[in-house]
Amino acid sequence: MQPLSRHVAVIGAGASGLVAARELRREGHTVVVFERGDQLGGMWVYTPEVESDPIGLNPNRNIVHSSMYQSLRINLPREIMGFRDYPFVAKEEDDEERDPRMFPGHTEVLNYLNGFAREFRISEMVRFENEVVFVGLVEGGKWKVKSKSKRGEDVEEIYDAVVVCNGHHTEPRVAQIPGISSWKGKQIHSHNYRTPEPFRDQVVVLIGGSVSAIDISQDIAGIAREVHIASRSVPDETMEKKPGYDNMWLHSMITSVHEDGSVVFPDGSVVLADIILHCTGYKYHFPFLETNGIVTVDDNCVGPLYKHVFPPALAPSLSFVGLPWKVVPFAMYEFQSKWIAGLLSNRIALPSKEEMMEDVKAFYSLRESSGTPKRYTHKLDDWQFEYNDWLAAQCGCPVSEEWRKQMWFAHFKNARLVGLLYRDEWNDHHLVSQAHEDFRKYTL
Ligand code: FAD
Repeated sequence: MQPLSRHVAVIGAGASGLVAARELRREGHTVVVFERGDQLGGMWVYTPEVESDPIGLNPNRNIVHSSMYQSLRINLPREIMGFRDYPFVAKEEDDEERDPRMFPGHTEVLNYLNGFAREFRISEMVRFENEVVFVGLVEGGKWKVKSKSKRGEDVEEIYDAVVVCNGHHTEPRVAQIPGISSWKGKQIHSHNYRTPEPFRDQVVVLIGGSVSAIDISQDIAGIAREVHIASRSVPDETMEKKPGYDNMWLHSMITSVHEDGSVVFPDGSVVLADIILHCTGYKYHFPFLETNGIVTVDDNCVGPLYKHVFPPALAPSLSFVGLPWKVVPFAMYEFQSKWIAGLLSNRIALPSKEEMMEDVKAFYSLRESSGTPKRYTHKLDDWQFEYNDWLAAQCGCPVSEEWRKQMWFAHFKNARLVGLLYRDEWNDHHLVSQAHEDFRKYTL
């Protein structure tokens, strides 16, 4: 079949939108990237600004996209975090000041993404300060895309395909806590956490057990009066002091909260708290997308999606990059984008809609029979490498390098060994050497 060149709208100029744009153009498509912010980089554009509703429940609040906090350092070794053919190393010709650490701060990632965009001339495809407000199907299987510029101009255009790259760390999920509607203290979601200062001398109950929860609890422990971490994933009735701190405790999840400010835990202990800080993750959110009910978000499962990318009934003209989590994100975005680009040009073929739907159903029943909650549908974890290799096989491109896979496992082993020092103590130097040997073909 003749390769086709399509007119494609990409929504978002974060890491996923940037690589999607590159792969689509490489494949011969014409691309417009819509970005509501004034610069590229998405989540990595740190801002001290926070939203008007600190817990993020008011639909009319001002939206701040990034959830980065000032002290954030990456939580994966930089060698595996970068795109495959544009390694995450500081190049000599880079003009920004670089942070050479293996787990650098967030500015280093933004500088890297800017370097990527320069190298592949991505910015010329981006319409900055243009928010997509509506995407809907029109006759002939095409898509109407309505956007609104910051200056207030509305534009309506027709595209052959839409690739959704809007990120999924902006719309807060909060914990359901019995009694919370009458609790008088402050509530904040980690989306609106930037620095520890607002927590000075406060008694804080922090809910969550993820990387952000760990980082933020350490950040505020130096300044808060007390920090009580409440986590669903510790055994019931846990109540223990965190080693190395005299003002931090670990509890199992809160039982109830009360009007007098008290927070009650399963072992019966009671804390009079000033602030509840929800480090409880985010929801997938596509407020602009109208598919007549074909694509839904149910308990944080976006579906039905073939391989987390295509709704079978709308494939390949509607796709999503970057939905899976507990993964090495950038390399996976690259594989997904190559697959989408190749399918849109007809270089690669999809199974029939029925076969894709069967595959989705089989995947859902597998997850269900293994007891995986629906909200974990897009959590890939160790299975990500099989997933990436499958995508690579579809695209006819090389699979993930072995050192990448080994470094992922070594990273978690190291974190278990050295605990919170994992960002500064790395033992598997042979893997770093293998990575840098491999990078020579791109950096020389
Ligand atoms: P985003 O970076 O969120 O970009 C989406 C873009 O879409 C934004 O620029 C936004 O303005 C734009 N947009 C949204 N809606 C619209 C619209 N309607 N119209 C136009 N534009 C729109 N990953 C790692 O690999 N390593 C880490 O160490 C790491 N740490 C993290 C720490 C935190 C606290 C968080 C929240 C995430 C972290 N991640 C990390 C994950 C990170 O989000 C991904 O790596 C990646 O940057 C996501 O890229 P994205 O392009 O999918 O989304």
